Amino acid sequence: MADYTKEIERRRTFAIISHPDAGKTTLTEKFLLYGGAINQAGSVKGKATARHAVSDWMEIEKERGISVTSSVLQFHYEGYCINILDTPGHQDFSEDTYRTLMAADSAVMVIDASKGVEAQTRKLFKVCVMRHIPIFTFINKMDRDARDTFDLLDEIEKELGIATYPVNWPIGSGKKFRGIYNRESNQVMTFSDTQKGTHEGQEENVDADKLVERSLADQEQVDTLGDEIELLDGASVSFDQDLVDKGELTPVFFGSALTNFGVLTFLEHFLKMTTSPLPRVADGKEIDPVNADFSAFVFKIQANMNKNHRDRIAFMRICSGKFDAGMEVYHVQGGKKLRLSQPQQMMADSRHVVQEAYAGDIIGVFDPGIFSIGDTVCATGDNFQYEGIPTFAPEHFARVSLIDTMKRKQFVKGINQIAQEGAIQIFQELKGGMEEIIVGVVGVLQFDVLKYRLTNEYNVEIRLETLPYEYIRWIENKDEVEVDKIVGTSDMKTVMDLKERPLLLFANSWSVGMVQERNEGLRLAEFSKN
Ligand code: GDP
Repeated sequence: MADYTKEIERRRTFAIISHPDAGKTTLTEKFLLYGGAINQAGSVKGKATARHAVSDWMEIEKERGISVTSSVLQFHYEGYCINILDTPGHQDFSEDTYRTLMAADSAVMVIDASKGVEAQTRKLFKVCVMRHIPIFTFINKMDRDARDTFDLLDEIEKELGIATYPVNWPIGSGKKFRGIYNRESNQVMTFSDTQKGTHEGQEENVDADKLVERSLADQEQVDTLGDEIELLDGASVSFDQDLVDKGELTPVFFGSALTNFGVLTFLEHFLKMTTSPLPRVADGKEIDPVNADFSAFVFKIQANMNKNHRDRIAFMRICSGKFDAGMEVYHVQGGKKLRLSQPQQMMADSRHVVQEAYAGDIIGVFDPGIFSIGDTVCATGDNFQYEGIPTFAPEHFARVSLIDTMKRKQFVKGINQIAQEGAIQIFQELKGGMEEIIVGVVGVLQFDVLKYRLTNEYNVEIRLETLPYEYIRWIENKDEVEVDKIVGTSDMKTVMDLKERPLLLFANSWSVGMVQERNEGLRLAEFSKN
C-alpha cells in the first residue's frame, strides 16, 4: 500500500446543498470555526455575490476572485481533512452548481425548519440521487417557529423519495425550543441562546427525565417528547449504514446554525457516517483512490472575464493517488504530457499554491484553453478516461441572432468557445444553420454573461429573444425512433445539440408526460451522459 494511504483515508469531500437562505453559509462558517480555520464567524466571503440583481453581474465577475475562493474550502478537524464544496445559488445558479456535485462524495442538505423542502434543494437533490451518494440532512433554524417535525420528515420522504432516520429529535421550536434529544443516549442537549454562535459550543447534556426537575422544559413538552419518540421508534426504519452509503436513507439532525446549536453533534456524526474518497469509474473499471497513481478529472472551468487576461482556471477533483506540484501528468483528451501550472487550493479565506494534494482534494489549475469539462488527467504511464460529466437540462431558452451578419465567423467562434467552457448550451433548429441558434442556460444570469462576453471578447453584438420553453428532454433511443414522426404537443419544439443529438423543448411540464404517452417506446432523459 502506498505510504499516503492515511492521507487519503482521512479525507471527506462533500457538497452543501440548500435553497437560498436556508443557512448554508452560516452552517459552513460554524464548521470552519470548529476546524480552527477561521477565528470568528462571519469570515466566509463570496456570499455577497449571491445577492446581486441580474444587471449587476459585472460586479459578480469582479468579485469572482472571492467566489472562487469560497467555492472549495479545506479544513481539519479531529484528524479528518475536510473539503467542502459550495454550490452557488441565487442568480449565480448555473450548470456549474450541478457539476460541483459530481466532485463530491456525499452531500449535506440544509433545510429551513419553517419552510421544508424548497425548489433549489429539490433540483440539486436529483443530481445526488443520480449519483447514489450519501445525503445528510440538517434541519436548521429551530430557534424560529418550525413546522411539525413529522410533517417535515414526511415531506422529505415524499418529495425527495428518500427514507429518513432522525438521529436526534427537537423539543419545541422558536421561543419554546428547549434542545435536541439524542436517541442513542436518551440525553437531551439543552438549548441556550446566549453564545450567539461565536464560540465553539459548550453544549450541556441532561438526562431526559431530569428536564422538568431542572426547569429546562415543562412537563407538557417532556410528555410530548415521550409520545413522539414512542411513535418514532414504532414507525420509522432502523439505522442502516448500507442504505446511507447508497443514498437511500438520510440521517436527519436538528439544530440552529446561527446560534451554533447542534452543529458539532452533526459534524461529528457526519464525519463518522460519511465516506473517504470513493472510487470513480474510468473506461468501465473502478480506479482505486489509494492504490492507483495520480488521476483527476475536470469538473468546472472558470473563465477570467478580464479581456487582458484571457486565462481560465480548471477545477479538478483528484480521484486517486498523490499530486505533487511540478509533476508531469498526461492529459488524456489532449493526448499530451504537461505540467499543471500554478496549482491552487482554497483555504477558508485565501488561496495558496499547493505543493501536494491527495485523492479527495480539489485543485484549481491555470488553463491556457486546453481543458474541457470532464477531461481526465493522469500519471504519465496511464491512459484512461473518467466517465463524462452529464449535460444538465437548461431551464431558460433564448433565440440568439446576430446584429451585423458580416461578423458571422467571430460569432460562431465565440459562442462555441463559451459553450465549450460549459457556461451555455447551444441548440439548432433541426434543419437550420448557425444563423439563428437557440441558447439554453441553467441560470438566467448566463444570458447576460453571454452577451457581455461576445461584445467584449469577440466584438459581436447579438439580440436575445427569450423563448417560453422550460423543459428539455434528450431522446435516449434516438436510433430507434423517427424524430420527424414524434407526435408532439402545441408547445413542443424539436432541436438538436452540437453533437447533433435530437432534443425536445417544452413550455409546460405536463406536455412531457403527454408526449411520452402519445409515443410508445420513446425514451426521454433529463440528463445527457456525454
Ligand atoms: P444561505 O443562503 O443558505 O447560505 O443562508 P445564510 O447562511 O446566509 O442564512 C440566511 C439568513 O438566515 C441569514 O440572515 C442568517 O443569519 C439566518 N440564519 C441562518 N441560520 C439560522 C438559524 O439557525 N436561526 C436563525 N434564526 N437564523 C438563521
